[in-house]
Amino acid sequence: MRSKKLSRSTPRAANVKDRCKQILNWLQDARPCGRSVRLIWVTWTSKDRRECFAETNRCGNELVISLNKPRCRTYSIAIETLLHEYAHCGTWGMAKTESTHFEKSEAQAELDMHDSTYWSEYGCVYNMFHYLDGWRDSKQYEF
Ligand SMILES: [Zn+2]
Repeated sequence: MRSKKLSRSTPRAANVKDRCKQILNWLQDARPCGRSVRLIWVTWTSKDRRECFAETNRCGNELVISLNKPRCRTYSIAIETLLHEYAHCGTWGMAKTESTHFEKSEAQAELDMHDSTYWSEYGCVYNMFHYLDGWRDSKQYEF
């Protein structure tokens, strides 16, 4: 995949959507997950989904991260949610990401999706962003 790093000084991402796109481009460069990842913003209003922050789904060979706009209004929540979802991309096919919810309880499905493999990947992504300069390096990426 082509790096989306910009060569010259970059304009500052002016809103939360641009900043998340920029961070996703950085993540795909700094820690490739082996698939192309697309970010979309959605508004879930139904009773069972409006409390959700996000979800990640496979669409063909591509992974699609859906961030729930009403729940991801602030930079910090949106970014933490994006990091969380990107760790799902990194463990796709390893952690039981594509769980068949209808066969098990909701609690069991949650545990399966967030098993130790998942948290290990999340920890890596989290550290790269917060402690290994990802927050700064990502500002050089397209959005
Ligand atoms: Zn999750």
